[in-house]
Amino acid sequence: MPELLAIRTLLDSVPGGPFPDFVADFAHAPGTRVVFGAGSVQRTGVFARSMGSSRALVVTDRGIADAGHLDRVLASLGAAGVEWSAFMGVVENPTTGTVEECVAAARTYQADLLIGLGGGSSMDTAKGCNFILTNGGKISDYHGTGKATKPMLPLIAIPTTAGTGSECQSYALISDALTHAKMACGDKKAAARIAILDPDLTLSQPARVTRVTGIDALAHALESAVCKKRTDISIAYSRAAFALLSHYYLTALAEPANETARAGMLLGAALAGTAIENSMLGAAHSAANPLTAHFGIVHGEAVGLMLPHVMRHNMTNPAAWEEYSTLAAPLGLTGEALPGWLSGILQQAGLPASLPAGLITPENLPVLAQEAAGQWTAQFNPAPVDAAAFEKLYQSSHHRSA
Ligand SMILES: [Zn+2]
Repeated sequence: MPELLAIRTLLDSVPGGPFPDFVADFAHAPGTRVVFGAGSVQRTGVFARSMGSSRALVVTDRGIADAGHLDRVLASLGAAGVEWSAFMGVVENPTTGTVEECVAAARTYQADLLIGLGGGSSMDTAKGCNFILTNGGKISDYHGTGKATKPMLPLIAIPTTAGTGSECQSYALISDALTHAKMACGDKKAAARIAILDPDLTLSQPARVTRVTGIDALAHALESAVCKKRTDISIAYSRAAFALLSHYYLTALAEPANETARAGMLLGAALAGTAIENSMLGAAHSAANPLTAHFGIVHGEAVGLMLPHVMRHNMTNPAAWEEYSTLAAPLGLTGEALPGWLSGILQQAGLPASLPAGLITPENLPVLAQEAAGQWTAQFNPAPVDAAAFEKLYQSSHHRSA
C-alpha cells in the first residue's frame, strides 16, 4: 500500500535504525500541538485567545509563582486581553481533594480555559479538574480510559520540569485522598490542546528535581521502547527521546544554566511522554509504585534503581534485546552493556543504585511483589513478569547494596 511505503520511507530516515521490515497496524492521532522554544511562554495569551478564551484559570503552586513563572504567564494573558485567575493549591501527588478544590475554583471563576503550569502534578490536577468540571461526578468515575462523554474545556500545558511528559499525554494520575491508591484517568479529550515547551522555565528546577525527573524521563524512553504495545511510530519517539535524554542528562545536572542541555531534556521528556501516549510502560514502573507507596521513595528514584534489573530480565526477549542494542549503539555500547551504563549514570547523578540494606524483609517481599504484579503496566513488559519474577527483581536490587 502506498501509505505504508510512505511511512516506511519516513521511518527509515529517522536516525537510530534499522527498523523492522514491516509496519504493523496502528492508529496515530497526535492530540497535542507542541510549541517549543526559549521565550515561547510569552505566546500563551495569543494561544488562549485563538482558542476563544476570555477567562483562563491557571493551575499551579506557590513555588512556581515564587520562581516568577506565573507572572510571565499572567502578563502574556493580560497582553492578549484574556482575564485570568490562579489556583495555587497544587500539591505533589495530587489527590481527589486537590482536584475538588480546583473544580470549586474553576466553577466560581467560570473559567473557559485551563492552564496547567508546573510539574506533572499541576497538569494532572488541571486534567482531573477538567473531567469533573465538564462531565460531573467524581474522579473515580473516570478511572480507566475514555469515560468522559461530554466535551471538555481546552487545556494549555506548560511544564517547568523535564520529567513526566504529562504535557503530551491524555492521562491524569490522581491519588485517592483516603486510600492513597493512584487512579489513572485517561481520555483523548483530556489531553492538552497545546503544550508550550519553554526551556527557560526549567532553569529554575532545583538539582534534586532535575536529578529524579530526568531519570524518570529516561526510564519512560527505555520502557516504552520495548513494551508490548509499542508501534513503529512510538518507537521513533522513544528513540529520539532516549538520544536527547542520554546525551544531556548529566550535563543538565553539572551545568544547571546550560540552556542547550535544558532544552534537550525538556524536549526529550515531552517526546518520551508522546511515546508513552502511543504505547505503554513496563515492569520498572510496576516495581517502583509499591516502593513509593510503602516506603515513600520518590518515583524517579524508585524507577531508576529498578530499571537496570528489569532490563537484564528483558534481555531474554529477543525483540527487547534488539531494541536495547539499537539504543546503545550511538553510545558505543552493546545492548547487554546498557543496564550497566544506566547504573553508572545513577551513580554519577548521586542517585541510589540499589535499595537500602534491610528494607526488603522476608515478610514484606511477597506483599511488594504481589502489588507490583498487579500494576497495570506489568502486563506490557516485553518479558513476562509475575509475582515470583518481581520477588527476584527486588532481591537483585537489594543484594547489590551489600
Ligand atoms: Zn515515570
